[in-house]
Amino acid sequence: MMIPCLACESRFGPDEYFSACSDYNRGLDLVSWTCPRCGNRDDLRVLPDELGFGYPHRGRFDVHARVRVPGLRRHRGDLRLDISLDRASWHVSTPLRPAGVPVRLTAGGGSARRRRPAL
Ligand SMILES: [Zn+2]
Repeated sequence: MMIPCLACESRFGPDEYFSACSDYNRGLDLVSWTCPRCGNRDDLRVLPDELGFGYPHRGRFDVHARVRVPGLRRHRGDLRLDISLDRASWHVSTPLRPAGVPVRLTAGGGSARRRRPAL
């Protein structure tokens, strides 16, 4: 099974291909992939038996192209995505501070504050 780069059409074995994945974005459910040959960076979603390529759009990820990868499996963790194919597996971590995602400050926090009786 060889997986192509959509930009330069080089083909990669699963190990070379999935080792080039980085930055799992759990919110949009996508990983970044940087082509080891041409340096092209794509966003893709790992799906059962296929890869979905597309673009983030209005807070979601629209899949425009699919590449069949029979046997591909995934497991979403809190801070990483586990990808498995046949007997091999790869882990893609979530960056601690994803670029472009503003840190949200929690306003108020009233329920966490307990007042002692004022007597
Ligand atoms: Zn390429």
